[in-house]
Amino acid sequence: MAHVLAAAEPLTLLKRPPPQNDGFGDDNGSTEEKAPKARRRESDPAAALAAARHEFGEHGGVNMSIEASATFTVMEPDTMRRLFTGELGPERGDLYIYSRHFNPTVLALGRQMAALEGTEAAYCTASGMSAISCVLMQLVGAGGHVVASRCLYGGTHALLSRFLPRTSGVQATFVDADDEAAVRAAIRPGETRVVYVETMSNPTLAVADIPMLARVAHEAGAKLVVDNTFTPVVVSPARLGADIVVHSVSKFISGGADIIAGAICGPASLVNSMMDLQDGALMLLGPTMNAKVASELAARLPHLPLRMQEHSRRAAEFAARMRRQGLRVTYPGLPDHPHHARLRAMGNPGYGAGGMLCLDMGTEERANRLMYHLQNTTQFGLMAVSLGFYDTLMSCSGNSTSSEMDPEDRARAGISPGLIRMSVGYNGTLEQRWAQFERALALMQQQDTPAAAAKYGKPV
Ligand SMILES: *Cc1c(COP(=O)(O)O)cnc(C)c1O
Repeated sequence: MAHVLAAAEPLTLLKRPPPQNDGFGDDNGSTEEKAPKARRRESDPAAALAAARHEFGEHGGVNMSIEASATFTVMEPDTMRRLFTGELGPERGDLYIYSRHFNPTVLALGRQMAALEGTEAAYCTASGMSAISCVLMQLVGAGGHVVASRCLYGGTHALLSRFLPRTSGVQATFVDADDEAAVRAAIRPGETRVVYVETMSNPTLAVADIPMLARVAHEAGAKLVVDNTFTPVVVSPARLGADIVVHSVSKFISGGADIIAGAICGPASLVNSMMDLQDGALMLLGPTMNAKVASELAARLPHLPLRMQEHSRRAAEFAARMRRQGLRVTYPGLPDHPHHARLRAMGNPGYGAGGMLCLDMGTEERANRLMYHLQNTTQFGLMAVSLGFYDTLMSCSGNSTSSEMDPEDRARAGISPGLIRMSVGYNGTLEQRWAQFERALALMQQQDTPAAAAKYGKPV
């Protein structure tokens, strides 16, 4: 029943009776005439974020107020009826019903997310997994089919291979998403509703060919859903043809490793359908984001582009130096990465190749020994899952975030037992951090057995 405010529809926003919060982003007062030009779609995510409508606080605060209420009053009894029929709503009279439905603070964060991803609308959820599961349940009914990449976040893989088939009768086929013929062959005409990939896959850092996948999906009447958790700002999947972009906001977008959150970015019609009182996955399953969390995240989004630039710069530098040390490193910014050219073509200029890199130490034992020294001897980083924190986080994917997968699936996805996934942080200086890395590597190599030393390079 309800409607959302679309970032690309400034006039409807500005025509609303201005309460305390004015539209913002125009050079001066007379917004009505100038709005269309000033609000043209920006292709750079930082520019788009800065051009999005700004919410002032209730008393003129530079930050928006937190709408902490779960429920909302109406002044006339009839207004309630009109809210429930959809005649009135968030963008029609700035009226709200109940915070599991739309909440003004969460909606404002959604507007920022829509600007960031260049989609018509967005809504934020309590976690990345709830964003992903609700989108899939909304788009793929019982008996529906999903074609998914073989390289996916472990939780998403489990959702598609076990949970949704068991609870919802959804079927999934996993393919090498790089192989256009395989994706086409996996599509079941009339049944495949969604093609699902990650922009940069976890943890193998394969980059999806989004324009190709969009073409294939659209020819089959399916939607392309892309998880852009690893590459916010770096890649804008919706600008390349994806229909829906999902995020674990818990990672780079939050940046603080202190919040679990998610987002669904796509057409207003999708967000509205997910909020439908009778039939909406978000409305009925209720993975609602708290308004206080939305307010915190809204204060972090403006510096996301700066953070991504520095994550990328450090990761690129470390990857190149690790390579010179003779280590087996995977980073899409290295020229010999199989998807280097693709990422360069798809990526937004100026944001690099992202903050994730992988180091294959050959065996789990060597990976663990290196991580031990990196954390406990030289303080290079922290042994922890997740990503996007200011400090470097590292984990051995095979026994952690990808452990839900069968060993054969892991091998097929290219996850070796000695694979260390690193989310490269930006605190400290680059040279300080590199010296810490080199010291830990030397200590680890000194403890290699002669056989391991021969196989994986001499102790330094
Ligand atoms: C962490 C992650 C998720 C799950 O998000 P949560 O916020 O932990 O629910 C989904 N996809 C990717 C790629 C992730 O890294």
